[in-house]
Amino acid sequence: MSHKIAILPGDGIGPEIIAEACRVLEVLRSEYGLSIETERADVGGAAYDAHGHPLPEPTLRVAREADAVLLGAVGGTKWETLERALRPEKGLLALRTELTLFSNLRPAILYPQLVAASTLRPEIVNGLDLMIVRELTGGIYFGQPRGIRILEDGQRQGFNTLVYSESEIERIGRSAFEIARKRSMRLCSVDKANVLEVSELWRSVMTGLAAEYHDVELSHMYVDNAAMQLVRNPKQFDVMVTGNMFGDILSDAAAMLTGSIGMLPSASLDSHGKGMYEPIHGSAPDIAGQGIANPLATILSVSMMLRYSLNEATLADHIDAAVGTVLDNGLRTADIASAGMHTVSTRAMGDAVVDALRAKS
Ligand code: NAD
Repeated sequence: MSHKIAILPGDGIGPEIIAEACRVLEVLRSEYGLSIETERADVGGAAYDAHGHPLPEPTLRVAREADAVLLGAVGGTKWETLERALRPEKGLLALRTELTLFSNLRPAILYPQLVAASTLRPEIVNGLDLMIVRELTGGIYFGQPRGIRILEDGQRQGFNTLVYSESEIERIGRSAFEIARKRSMRLCSVDKANVLEVSELWRSVMTGLAAEYHDVELSHMYVDNAAMQLVRNPKQFDVMVTGNMFGDILSDAAAMLTGSIGMLPSASLDSHGKGMYEPIHGSAPDIAGQGIANPLATILSVSMMLRYSLNEATLADHIDAAVGTVLDNGLRTADIASAGMHTVSTRAMGDAVVDALRAKS
């Protein structure tokens, strides 16, 4: 069966890093027998320029019809003065909502070759490999009512609502238990059940699910402790699952344990395993067009796509191994190079991954 992949390069360095990821896909197709069809479409600022909207109808159609979406990045100063609804980032948010991508997977992996990039001591982070599963379409970022109102005494009051229904908790819980099954069978659910009723419900739904996934070991942790433990002893975690706001904060903290956003992929999944895959970094307008962006986060996003949407875990392993090989061989783009190291271009890094893959085919 042929997998349909929507390719959305976006803005800034997006087209440069997507070009390298597409070369990797091409090697998998021509030399590893991966059966794929790709279709490209505009998103973000590029889509606004071409079609007057950051998520035009044809792009949404291509994304809907695909089994998986590979996205570069969106945004840039050029579009910052547009009205909010037309800004590039709105295109990305709308895509997540339209495709019901409620499960955000944010791995934090520290490659041993890059241990010096972390601000933490090597013995704390060396070998780090954890996955944060963040609920993406509910919680306080979407809850109603919300707003700023005027109180009787004349001062303004801001308010938001933290709500999670049982079914929303259950579906993110299932997504996380399934991921734990693909990893080391350990899941830590993060909440604030000592203070929030929403978290009390969250904890009880997670505990209920544990009976179904009895092969997975479930633990619970309060979010303040989880933040502390992430910087104290991050290797105690394998898969963590949490709500939208807690996950937003914890996943950025976990990303920084690795010291390099140019290396980190992400996935956003629906309940059928369809997903959108993208690097966690933005469009890096400061280096766009210079050919120096690190393509590895995007190439590793392809690996996640193979693992979580296309059921091609062996090919994903090959990509991960190829990235390990190029790092072992000392190749570094500027963002991951230590002082005095020779640096390579986006294209040269892509070449090296492609060569490593070909060598093993
Ligand atoms: P950014 O992630 O684009 O860049 C932050 C810094 O990291 C910059 O110095 C950049 O040069 C560097 N960097 C990022 N990716 C890199 C890579 N692959 N290789 C080498 N260096 C890299 O964040 P920002 O500067 O805050 O935002 C720039 C634009 O990107 C904004 O318009 C923002 O809204 C948008 N953005 C988009 C996404 C997305 O598409 N998912 C995410 C974050 C920010």
